[in-house]
Amino acid sequence: MLSPFGMAAVEYARRGWRVIPLWHVRETGEQPVCGCWKLGTCGTPGKHPMIKNWRETASNDPKLVAQWWRVWPRANVGLLTGGITRLVAIDVDGEEGRESWAALQEAYEPVPETLRQTTGREGGGEHFLFTVDDDFEMDKIRNRTKMANGIDVRAEGGLIVAPPSIHPTGAQYAWRDPSMPVASMPAWLIKIAVSQKARQIAITPNAGRPSEEALEADGWPRWRRVLVARETMIREAPPAISGQNGHGACLKTTILLIRGYCLYSDEAFDLLWGTYNTVCIPPWSHEELMHKIESAEYAVSDESYPWRFRIPAPDPSPAGRAVQAIYDACYRELGGVEDLWNATPETAPEPTKGMENKPKRKKRDTGENVA
Ligand SMILES: [Zn+2]
Repeated sequence: MLSPFGMAAVEYARRGWRVIPLWHVRETGEQPVCGCWKLGTCGTPGKHPMIKNWRETASNDPKLVAQWWRVWPRANVGLLTGGITRLVAIDVDGEEGRESWAALQEAYEPVPETLRQTTGREGGGEHFLFTVDDDFEMDKIRNRTKMANGIDVRAEGGLIVAPPSIHPTGAQYAWRDPSMPVASMPAWLIKIAVSQKARQIAITPNAGRPSEEALEADGWPRWRRVLVARETMIREAPPAISGQNGHGACLKTTILLIRGYCLYSDEAFDLLWGTYNTVCIPPWSHEELMHKIESAEYAVSDESYPWRFRIPAPDPSPAGRAVQAIYDACYRELGGVEDLWNATPETAPEPTKGMENKPKRKKRDTGENVA
């Protein structure tokens, strides 16, 4: 008769997954202690293999696996990721992880329903399991911490602890729905998961940004973009509220500024700090906003957010020129775009004929003059 751990392990082996016994957690007193010889000094209690060369030793042979758990009935159950199992686990930790997981799916698309487990970690941890299709080189997807804030990837060369193993907190790993099949890993997720190297080597900040000359030729010089971006921010930006995917909302807004309006980091920062922050609960720190800007400049550099996605194409018609002229006039003569929106036909400024006169620099916006 096998222990519940052993029975689960055999079941996983039958599915073709590579199983390895892990040290169990001793429940002695208040502090969880690893069953291994390091006892209280073990840094990964209940999470590391009992067998050497575990990457090679891990087995999908039900007989061998049953034998292991007859010898060590309390052993936690480890599953190899990557390799021939073609298994990848996305490890979403805590609120930060859940927020970036939601933001990623909002930026790309929702992941398919798939087998997932709760890990028993304090603050809530979840593993989403995916298989990688045969036409993709598995060894490119490596074990990786911090794919995004609070998200790790367990893939080639890694392992996960599987139900019904016991977490050091005393909680048990559990499948959300054990009957759920493992879905194929979406292409966009693979792309992000392998992009660490790309992030270091290939992706430079602001890669692919259109040149200032091209933007100006289309009628979108820098100052005009800042003006329209600020107005959009006041009218449309979703406020970031802690606990309600605030990180996602703030990142989305930053992407809007950096990629949608092709602003530079200092301009984006001024708008986030002076305008956006007034509706955020709590307001972001200097450092947090800089971090969001960095994410927008480095990480989100693919087709999902093409450059200038919020800038309309040039409109050479008289109407199009008139709209541009209104922006010009507004910038020159009034305090900001808000005033223009509030203006009546009587108080509206006279649209100027040409757009070629570069207006003088307006004084910086501060939090006080924001509606
Ligand atoms: Zn240990």
